[in-house]
Amino acid sequence: MKCVVCKYGECTEGKTTVTIEKEGTLLILRGVPAKVCQNCGEAYVSGEVTEEILRAAAEARQQHIEIDVRHFDAA
Ligand SMILES: [Zn+2]
Repeated sequence: MKCVVCKYGECTEGKTTVTIEKEGTLLILRGVPAKVCQNCGEAYVSGEVTEEILRAAAEARQQHIEIDVRHFDAA
């Protein structure tokens, strides 16, 4: 898959860090599986993984967490 940002790099399986803010809860997820551009570093996260991220953010919000850093596998 070619990168749509730089239109040059090739995207390969890798890991990225995703930051999501939801109603005052800031969640930082590390080790998120994504396709990462070898040229510019842009990360593409699948819909399935995005759902997981949103679920983790909603959970953190319910726990009234203001800011949290988690590993994706443990989220
Ligand atoms: Zn790129």
